[in-house]
Amino acid sequence: MYFKSTRDTEEKKLLSAQVIKQGLADDGGLFIPTEIPELTESEVKKLATLPYPERAALVMGKFLTDFTYDELIADCEAAYAEASFPGGAAPVVNIEKNLYSLELWHGPTAAFKDMALQLMPRLLVRSLRKTGENRTALILVATSGDTGKAALEGYRDVDGVKIMVFYPVDGVSRVQKLQMATQQGSNVNVCAINGNFDDAQTGVKKIFSDTEFAAELDKNGYFLSSANSINWGRLAPQIVYYVSAYCDLMNEGKISYGDKINVCVPTGNFGNILAAYIAKLMGLPIDKLICASNVNNVLTEFLRTGTYDRNRKFHVTMSPSMDILISSNLERLLAFVAGPEKTAAYMKSLNTTGAYTVEPDVLAKINESFVGYYTDEAATGAEIKANFENLGYLHDTHTAVAVNAARQYEAQTGDVKPTVIASTASPYKFAADVLVSLGGDRPADDLEALDKLSALTNTEITSPLRGLGERAVRFTETIDPADMPAAVKNYTK
Ligand SMILES: *Cc1c(COP(=O)(O)O)cnc(C)c1O
Repeated sequence: MYFKSTRDTEEKKLLSAQVIKQGLADDGGLFIPTEIPELTESEVKKLATLPYPERAALVMGKFLTDFTYDELIADCEAAYAEASFPGGAAPVVNIEKNLYSLELWHGPTAAFKDMALQLMPRLLVRSLRKTGENRTALILVATSGDTGKAALEGYRDVDGVKIMVFYPVDGVSRVQKLQMATQQGSNVNVCAINGNFDDAQTGVKKIFSDTEFAAELDKNGYFLSSANSINWGRLAPQIVYYVSAYCDLMNEGKISYGDKINVCVPTGNFGNILAAYIAKLMGLPIDKLICASNVNNVLTEFLRTGTYDRNRKFHVTMSPSMDILISSNLERLLAFVAGPEKTAAYMKSLNTTGAYTVEPDVLAKINESFVGYYTDEAATGAEIKANFENLGYLHDTHTAVAVNAARQYEAQTGDVKPTVIASTASPYKFAADVLVSLGGDRPADDLEALDKLSALTNTEITSPLRGLGERAVRFTETIDPADMPAAVKNYTK
């Protein structure tokens, strides 16, 4: 199995280890497989008899053909162990009639990014060895909160890597700060920055582009790497849970093999829903992919009109991981549907004018699979309240957007196929907004919101967030952005 850039007309082919090591293609495009491997009926039926780590190793093995099964199963078993995902990696819960919640937040940071970030670091280390790299990878991350914590948990105690995370001292919530400052692991470091997220991001970018600095690190046996969200190594693990959900629905007798399901995903960077599309291309019986957005509805507009236009007002919402105007992974869909030449032209137009329009036939092809719906803040809050009061199920703010979109789709089309909704975060991850949506008062800080939400709903605080206030703080340093290179050097001494 080979990979190529979304913008490459010459089809320069690379193996998956190189693609995972490199992250982004040389021409600025993203990597996609040159062909889509097939997932047959007998394979799906076999996967249905297996536990999650084996499902993951077998599905991933179709793309990572330069990895052995033994390597993949070892990594998948370590990544999706009961200790990291108590109660299973991706359980499916029937919330109402034909609606199912695919709970992707049972990992160490209580959000779905763990599904990829628990596995990807292990694949990266193997990729480095496979491509002849013997130095230690130093992962540098600037974070506005959630990605930093998920990366820390993913890379902690993985051999051959160290990770250092910078966050703005007053730019993250108290829960996020505590999550990072109490991080366990022998190869992790966390540092607060006097400044905002942009200062942290700029500081990290400067270090990455400093060749003298790289030479000095090299002398000490290190090289810099990023935990980039558009890396194929982060996308591939996300294909697995859609296959797994289909298997679970078969096992529960809700569907028979061949019955089509719909999938609804609360979408930001378009990675999660693209993984579902790839599962469909492989042959998993999926009909519609419902792309759910909040009032930052650039994707809804694109899927309805064929015009992607980022020149619009940016809204801060209670589903912040979907507050995005450029959905990077959409480029992969464009490459699959329209080919590299057109994709390169769309991206050029996006860079220069902030917009592009696809041809009617391209839009029609996209609409064979994708439909778009969006939800405003009031409807999102009402959805959380109604689902809890009527169904006894508590959604986080992102997933509530998706539930609302799935209901809009059904009301408009009458399509009542079983619909799997990707549940991307524990309601406790966004406790204050969930609490207010249920009619509670907004608490003074979000640590208090955890307890109040638990008391109001009579549910348990998700385990990674429990007892956060009592954990030992390991990292207390706050530095100026100018001192970031020195801090990194100090860490690699
Ligand atoms: C990252 C994230 C999303 C968006 O996922 P994409 O793959 O970027 O579309 C949705 N919900 C939550 C809670 C997230 O953390």
